[in-house]
Amino acid sequence: MLGSLPVLNLSEAKFECIFGRGCDGICCQQGRPPVTDDDVARIEQALPKALPHLREAARKKIEKVGFLSDWKKAGRRTLRVADKWCVFFNQGCVLHKLGMQEGDSFKYKPVVCAVFPLDVTTKGQWYVRQWGVDGEQWDLFCLNPEASPKPAAESLREELALVERVGTKPQS
Ligand code: SF4
Repeated sequence: MLGSLPVLNLSEAKFECIFGRGCDGICCQQGRPPVTDDDVARIEQALPKALPHLREAARKKIEKVGFLSDWKKAGRRTLRVADKWCVFFNQGCVLHKLGMQEGDSFKYKPVVCAVFPLDVTTKGQWYVRQWGVDGEQWDLFCLNPEASPKPAAESLREELALVERVGTKPQS
């Protein structure tokens, strides 16, 4: 628990992001994150700055059909994929990099990406995604609690702070 918001399995969860240290960012491969209206507004704000930094296939796709797919996840629209990767992925998340340059890594990223691997159960409770928890289906190696001894309560401090700001659920 951080502040007032409970996170179900935080005391026992282990997690370490090793992006750039053996992981190329595979959580963004075919990721198709669902987005809220607020996410869409923030991405639209970043788009003119983001476009020149995207992969050519992704930039062309966005210019032709936009960054939102008609495919829905959990009732929300999702980001498009180009050549198997999220359109905003180019050796890392371009939305993340743009936000970081402006002093807030989470400024433009969809909330679901920014708080990963924190997520909300169907009952609306925050928890840390881990193999063996809440029927986790994703075989991503970093969701294996045996992959790192690092307590998620330490490694996810920034994400937990964002969850505190977001509240009980990502806002629509
Ligand atoms: S928006 Fe960024 S973090 Fe989310 S899937 Fe796309 S590239 Fe990855």
